[in-house]
Amino acid sequence: MVSEPGDEMHDLTCLIKGCQAKVYAPAGTHSICREHFLNYLTWRRRKGPQMFMKYAGMTMEERDPLVAEWANTIRVEESPTASAPKT
Ligand SMILES: [Zn+2]
Repeated sequence: MVSEPGDEMHDLTCLIKGCQAKVYAPAGTHSICREHFLNYLTWRRRKGPQMFMKYAGMTMEERDPLVAEWANTIRVEESPTASAPKT
């Protein structure tokens, strides 16, 4: 058995790459800042009430793929590579 590092958080900043905000709430086994937490909440709500209820019954590990899916929809403004070429 692998011993866990206890309840020590290894993510001190937001899960979203490029976001330097302090963590506010857990998202799966990771943590996200308040702004992104609200964003995540909205994203889940958009998926409908069934998703909302299903999510409530999921374990942290089960939530991870969902968090990853949501994280892909997040664009951090600071990212210089994200600028779309104009034609
Ligand atoms: Zn964030």
